[in-house]
This record gives sequence, C-alpha cells and structure tokens, in this order.
Amino acid sequence: MSIAHAHNLIAEAAERLAQPRVSFEFFPPKSEALEAQLWESIRKLEPLSPSFVSVTYGAGGSTRDRTHRTVSRIVDETSLKPAAHLTCVGASREEIDGVLRDYWAAGVRHIVALRGDPPGGLGTPYEPHPEGYASAVDLVAGAKRAGDFEISVAVHPEKHPASATWAHDIENFKAKLANGATRGVSQFFFDADVFLRFRDRLAAAGVDAPIVPGIMPVTNVKGLKKMVDGCGATLPGWLVRLFDGLDDDPDTRRLVAAATTAQLCAHLASEGVEDFHFYTLNRADLTLAICRIIGVRAKEQAA
Ligand code: FAD
Repeated sequence: MSIAHAHNLIAEAAERLAQPRVSFEFFPPKSEALEAQLWESIRKLEPLSPSFVSVTYGAGGSTRDRTHRTVSRIVDETSLKPAAHLTCVGASREEIDGVLRDYWAAGVRHIVALRGDPPGGLGTPYEPHPEGYASAVDLVAGAKRAGDFEISVAVHPEKHPASATWAHDIENFKAKLANGATRGVSQFFFDADVFLRFRDRLAAAGVDAPIVPGIMPVTNVKGLKKMVDGCGATLPGWLVRLFDGLDDDPDTRRLVAAATTAQLCAHLASEGVEDFHFYTLNRADLTLAICRIIGVRAKEQAA
C-alpha cells in the first residue's frame, strides 16, 4: 500500500460518522508500581466508553487471585463493563466452577473462555487436567451452566497451530458458538488481509457471529518474535525491517508503532470492520492515539 493510499484510509476513518466500537485488554499487575500504571491507563481509557474491558488470566491459573481482584475493582470503582478471562489449565471443573460462581457474585457478567496454553510452554502438546474442562468448547458450556454470562472466545485468523485443518478450526469455533459464546476475539495479526481472508472463510462456512480483530500495537519486534512463533501468527518481514536499528530508541519505536497500527485499523475500517479489541499491555498512550485516529472520541468530545 502506498503512503498516499494509507493517508486516504486514515482520513476516511477519521471522517466516518459512525464511531467504531472498541474494547481494551489488560493484564493483572504484579507489583504496586504496575498496579498504579494499570489504573492510570484504565482512567485515561474509560472516557472512550469501550464496549467492555477484559483482564487476562495467567498461564496455569497463576494470576487467578490477581485477575479476580482487578476485575472486581473495575466493577466497584468504574463505569466500565469488565470481562474476566478464564482458562481450563491446571484446575478441575469444580475449581473452575467455583471461580465462575465467585465472578457472578462479584457482579461480573462477561467471561472470555479460553483453553489456555500448554503448561509445558508454547509448542509442547496440550494435556487437559484429568478432572478439568478439556477445551474452550467445554468451558463455554460450563460457564453457561454456572450463570447467564455473556461469553467471548478466541479465534485464530492464521489457524491455531494445534489445528490440523482450517475446517477443524472453524468447526471448533462453531461448537463454541453452539454452546453459548456470542463473539470471537481474534489472536493478533499484522496484515489486514489476514483478518479479511479469515472473515471470508467464516462467512463461506455460514458463520455470522461477530468476530473482533485483536489489535496489538507493536513497539518491540524482538520481544514479540517468541510469542508470535508459539501462537501461529506471522510477523511480516516489512514490519521487522521497520524496527531495524531501533533497539535503543524506544521513542521512535513507539511512533512507528502508532503509525503502523493506525494504518492497520484504518484499512480494516475501510473494509467495514466496526469493532476493535486492543491489547493495551496496560499502557494507554498508544491505544488512545490510535483510537483518536480511527475516529473514537470520548463522549463529550464526540457530542
Ligand atoms: P480451543 O478453542 O479449545 O482450541 C484451540 C485449537 O485446538 C482449536 O482451534 C482446535 O482446532 C484445537 N482443538 C481443540 N480441541 C481439540 C481436541 N479435542 N482435539 C484436537 N484439537 C482440538 N491464554 C491464557 O493463558 N490466558 C489468557 O487470558 C488468554 N487470553 C487470550 C485472549 C485472546 C483474545 C486470544 C486470541 C488468546 C488468549 N489466550 C490466553 C491464548 C489461548 O489460551 C491460546 O491461544 C490457546 O492455545 C488456545 O485457546 P483457545 O481458547 O482458542 O482453545
């Protein structure tokens, strides 16, 4: 895409009358300093009135209490609608049902139901807990039994690496929907065409549930490489080259991230995408800038 074309897409996105809907993902903080950073970000993003904000669940349930605390504080202290991520890893059905009941009692009404990554690390085979939920399909059904939750699930625009075929991956998403999920939130990707082709595949398979692109504003390609390999996403050569030589220059990396991510979102918006889920990494600045570029405004600014 030429720079002029990218500029036109951004101009079109900013001029569009209907504001895109956005949601924001956070992770539970490990220290007081990180907690302060998270809350500063939440407060800065709150005026954009996101559809929901979600809080991740660490590998193997390692953040169970911290996720619960963060989500409960969002319920108690903000106007935001939180969604709690929950995985099947390392816990029996009974334990997970207990977590779900605690969420319901705390006023949480939205769960992001996931299988989770193998406890042995990305790339190792996944073994379900002997008394646990076997996969996200199973967990969605369990969450629906535990309460009338709204349920989001993961979808994989480049196919989940454990899935032998596209057909299997799409049937798996259909099974999550049949068990009560209402939307798919996508794994991150860096070329708009990857998501648009995936949307076409789902449409061809008769899936009409909403799928929301997961947007990761990349500031550090080196740090991302390992993650990308494990989850089946492709890191395009052009993106790697953009960050060449910038290892010691975080300010320029952030500006490059804002430009490339805004362009990705504007491209998706030009193809009719109306919802965006941002992996904020608990920082507000990049997400705020990109939202502004694609036409998302705080309520009083939009009026
Ligand atoms: P599933 O849908 O259960 O399955 C993944 C793939 O495995 C499917 O595509 C399917 O084809 C295949 N499969 C499923 N069941 C079977 C079976 N019985 N036999 C053979 N193949 C099967 N991880 C965390 O630990 N914590 C988080 O908070 C978290 N948040 C996430 C949020 C989003 C939006 C996304 C996209 C991912 C997130 N993840 C998180 C990562 C996620 O746990 C991994 O991608 C995991 O490897 C797959 O999870 P899933 O829910 O898609 O799994």
